[in-house]
Amino acid sequence: MKVVLNNIGKKYEGREDFTLRNIDLEIESQDFCVILGPSGCGKTTLLRMIAGLNSISEGDLYFNDKRMNKVPSKDRDIAMVFQSYALYPHMTVYDNMAFSLAMRREQKSVIDARVREAAELLQITNYLHSKPSDISGGQRQRVALGRAMVRKPKVFLMDEPLSNLDAKLREHMRVELVRLHKSLGTTSIYVTHDQTEAMTMATKIVLMNEGKIQQAGKPEEFYNKPANLFVARFIGSPTMNIFQGRIENGQFFAKDNLFKVSPSAADAEAVKAFEGQPVSLGIRSERFLTTATDENVEVRVDVVEMLGKEKILYANLISGDELVISVPGHLHFEEGQSYKFGLDQGALHFFSTETGERIN
Ligand code: ATP
Repeated sequence: MKVVLNNIGKKYEGREDFTLRNIDLEIESQDFCVILGPSGCGKTTLLRMIAGLNSISEGDLYFNDKRMNKVPSKDRDIAMVFQSYALYPHMTVYDNMAFSLAMRREQKSVIDARVREAAELLQITNYLHSKPSDISGGQRQRVALGRAMVRKPKVFLMDEPLSNLDAKLREHMRVELVRLHKSLGTTSIYVTHDQTEAMTMATKIVLMNEGKIQQAGKPEEFYNKPANLFVARFIGSPTMNIFQGRIENGQFFAKDNLFKVSPSAADAEAVKAFEGQPVSLGIRSERFLTTATDENVEVRVDVVEMLGKEKILYANLISGDELVISVPGHLHFEEGQSYKFGLDQGALHFFSTETGERIN
């Protein structure tokens, strides 16, 4: 099912400002759409509007061609999985999963088939007769998913469903969820503040800040072409290095003329339009060159962090501005020493310092 949001807004009663404004979004059937953003940006509010648990103050919500604004939650053909998966403790796994179907007075044989099919997919068949207290956190989360799956919804809505699990299990469940999504082919909308979950699971990411969409698209677009400085800083670990400077004769001069760099031929024209203006240059930690080029930056390395396949260098420019550089793990760097790194023209991101918007 296709989910379409047209200029959606939300104003909670008793609040002066809109919590969400001008939300335009198309989620294709079979998309795994991740709504990402910092705490308080309005992710849950948006999900609850799609679920019919919050009213819509402005705009239109469509499932395929049907306007859904006033359709009660129970008639929306959706299933929701929350962070606190709240299973009924006195019921077996089987009964927890069967509960909503039993409430709908489905036939016992239908219920049994659906529960067993979901349990098989989620690999919890062996636990069907256990109580929630007798299984692990990861298994409980699967039961919560199973409980949603047996209803065969048209849209799956998930609000931080993995955040109660430990790191290892979260990593494992990420892959499981993607597999599950591929085999079910149900439109999924997933809320998280964790960029790794978004980058690894999404077919489409929607990054929000302060009630507005900052960028929507494929994960690699976020990494390679962040739309503005907020997106550039939010996606990627280590955080993208950002240098302040200005454009002169088509080149970027860093503050105090500490280094200069020419944009690639592809970027030159867009950058030239900012001649004389303050511009921010972004470069990801792994895009510095360890071989010298014509355009180098000199840094002092303070701390070397060895991660195995790579080393993270925490460094300074002479101005004191900090930067982070990742290099292959086998290269040697001394703390307290100065080094020159080349700047890869193909990896430069230019932003207007005034508006924060991407230039190139
Ligand atoms: P988190 O990741 O912390 O859950 P979020 O991005 O999901 O945050 P929301 O829970 O949607 O954000 O909240 C967005 C804003 O709306 C917050 O400022 C919050 O205080 C406000 N808000 C949420 N629910 C209500 C409500 N029922 N009444 C009034 N304001 C609310």
